[in-house]
Amino acid sequence: MSLVIGLTGGIGSGKTSAAKFFTSEGVDVIDTDKIARKLAQPHGSAIPSIQKSFGKNFITTNGALDRKKMRDLVFSDGASRRQLEAILHPLIRTEAVRLTALASSPYIVIVVPLLLETGDYREIVQRILVVDCNEENQVARAIIRSGLNEQEVHAIMATQISRQKRLEQADDVIVNDMEMLHLQKSVGILHQKYLSLLNEY
Ligand code: ATP
Repeated sequence: MSLVIGLTGGIGSGKTSAAKFFTSEGVDVIDTDKIARKLAQPHGSAIPSIQKSFGKNFITTNGALDRKKMRDLVFSDGASRRQLEAILHPLIRTEAVRLTALASSPYIVIVVPLLLETGDYREIVQRILVVDCNEENQVARAIIRSGLNEQEVHAIMATQISRQKRLEQADDVIVNDMEMLHLQKSVGILHQKYLSLLNEY
């Protein structure tokens, strides 16, 4: 059995950046956000179910999910958000499991933003790695990355598990409050740790 690390963290905490550094170390990284985007691309495998549940209005003329329209809906309507998640999450998990089986590096990193909120990946991951940063950095970085405004970022943070609860469940934590080079070094140190743990899994 190989070691699978579940990498998580709040919006804008630095998950994608940390994942890139793991890739540079030669680790196979599976990004569930990327899988989700693929599922909702033109004629992606989630499109028929989305159309059935939400109607043609949410599908663009080229057969993709109309992201802006869907974002506006799920932002204001929790039931719709849960409905969309009920379609996407099982498909994402299935694809993540498939990619895990194909991976060939000594251990694998799966990036799952809502790892601790959903519980879907408990049986897949052996260790939980949390990327953490202070709220000020988090909000500023989330705004830069996503183009959302401060209020919107706070609204998303309110739907996510609290920073404290996330940290309580972590096996490993990367503190991402310094410059990128520091993040890269932190990933390098953890990489060595994970390699040294391989015979335990
Ligand atoms: P999201 O949840 O929004 O997908 P994320 O957790 O994947 O975000 P990143 O995309 O890695 O986070 O980082 C968010 C933004 O902050 C990016 O623009 C990234 O370049 C920047 N960033 C991340 N870490 C640092 C750092 N240590 N110093 C400066 N900028 C950083």
